[in-house]
This record gives sequence, C-alpha cells and structure tokens, in this order.
Amino acid sequence: MHAKDPLIFKALEIRESRGLDISLSPPLEFYADAFTEPGTLKSLKVTLSFSVGGDELLLTGRTDAELALRCARCDAPIARRLSDTFDEAYPDSVEYIDTRDIIRETVALLAPLKVLCSETCKGRCPLCGVDRNATPCTCSMDKATPFEALKGLKIRKPDDKGRKQ
Ligand SMILES: [Zn+2]
Ligand SMILES: [Zn+2]
Repeated sequence: MHAKDPLIFKALEIRESRGLDISLSPPLEFYADAFTEPGTLKSLKVTLSFSVGGDELLLTGRTDAELALRCARCDAPIARRLSDTFDEAYPDSVEYIDTRDIIRETVALLAPLKVLCSETCKGRCPLCGVDRNATPCTCSMDKATPFEALKGLKIRKPDDKGRKQ
C-alpha cells in the first residue's frame, strides 16, 4: 500500500531499470503546514533522478515552487518562484524509497525568512496603520518608539524608587 504514494518508489524496480528519471507534481495540501514563515505554496514541481551506485541508490532532486508571500514591512502580497536541489543516498537493502520527507524539508526551506515588496518599502505606520508607500502620514515617531515606552515603565517601577543610579 506504501508504494501507491507517488513519492514512494520500489527500490528493486529502480535497480532493474538501472535508474529512473521522473517529474511530478505532488498534492499541495501535503505541504500546507511546511512553512514556519508565512507563505503559501501555489504550485510545486518535483524532478527526481535516481541512479544506481555501488551498493546504494543515489537520488538527486529538484523542487520548483511558486510561493505566495507577504511583504514583511507593508504586508503586500508577493509572488516568488523559488527552486532548490537535494541529494540523497539509499542503501541497497531498502525495499521502498520514500522521498516524502526530503522533498518536504526542501520545500519547507524555500520560504525566505523575510521578503520585501521593494528594498525601499516604507512599510505601515505602527501608530496609524496607514501604508506609507501609498499615503504619507504625519505621525511623529519621536516619542512613541517601543524603547521610550519601556523607559517610562522602568521609572515607574516601585523597585527603582529612591534608588540612586
Ligand atoms: Zn512592502
Ligand atoms: Zn501614521
């Protein structure tokens, strides 16, 4: 029943045919929770190339994905095409070659930690929420940075009362 998954291969068949080249598009639902960074997989193509080594089967693979991401500063939607390759070796003793995990890992690492719609994106104003790329706002940041707020808290802390710094 294992072998019915399109990402699981019978090792014997690959050895008998002296390798295998295959290109497929696994169901996207399988990778829905793969990203720790916000991002959604829009399309995925996986290319696998098996070859027979001395006492193992060698796999080189490639993932081509289209991701829907959001700008880290202004939250604008961004579409990116990202690709990566991977290599794996399987001992001759295995009956099935399950490529699901390595493909999943590769896909999960595709999403960049931080993506910007443009290097010059001004982002959203943390005070009024306006998209500053579209509308300049007149909020003053001078007295409202998180650090200023923190300082204010410290001064009011009872522990600090009367303590000479
Ligand atoms: Zn942006
Ligand atoms: Zn503002």
